[in-house]
Amino acid sequence: MKYIKKNQEPEKLTAWKALENDDWKPDWDDNFQTPEKPIVHDALLKEQGYICCYCGMRITRETSHIEHLKPRSAYPSLSLEYKNLIASCQGESEEPPPVPVHCGHKKKYWYDENLMVSPLKITCADFFQYPASGEIQPTDELAKKAAAQTTIEKLALNISKLQNMRKLAIDAALLATDDLTEAEIQLLAQGYEKPDKNGQYTPFCAAISYLFKNYF
Ligand SMILES: [Zn+2]
Repeated sequence: MKYIKKNQEPEKLTAWKALENDDWKPDWDDNFQTPEKPIVHDALLKEQGYICCYCGMRITRETSHIEHLKPRSAYPSLSLEYKNLIASCQGESEEPPPVPVHCGHKKKYWYDENLMVSPLKITCADFFQYPASGEIQPTDELAKKAAAQTTIEKLALNISKLQNMRKLAIDAALLATDDLTEAEIQLLAQGYEKPDKNGQYTPFCAAISYLFKNYF
């Protein structure tokens, strides 16, 4: 999981919400649509460097949805609050036959102040370990372990689909270190901490960064 630093709410959203009056209220279900919704969606993608808020796979507007960190069911007043919005991958199909889903569609209405590791928490990466197998595991640190374990389960972050994708990303990153000097490897590792010139993070960069920090 990679920390998401929230930017200012897009001006268009602020202006739209300010139109509220006795006869009209901004509402997620009733009237949050084009142009405001795609503007917000694009702002979230950019803010996250085009990776899923939970699993870290590459996302676009077509392959992601706007996710409420604190679900609308329990926190209706936050449904249009920019600080509560993040972009999640779709997981797998929700159509029958049922297949395991992950990230936002798996999380659904779950949220727990103490047991959910939020990508908006600056230390969120410290809750997880990423062995080269592609798995995600909770940290051994006792104070963080229960939340990490619960979050992995509730978001289905350790399903084989995601393990395989992470392993491919890790293998590619390790392959790129062949024949490099120690200093060059450190430079390469730093590169995964930053978005590229198109503002994109490398998919699964949290796992890759973990590996560089712990094995080099
Ligand atoms: Zn995801």
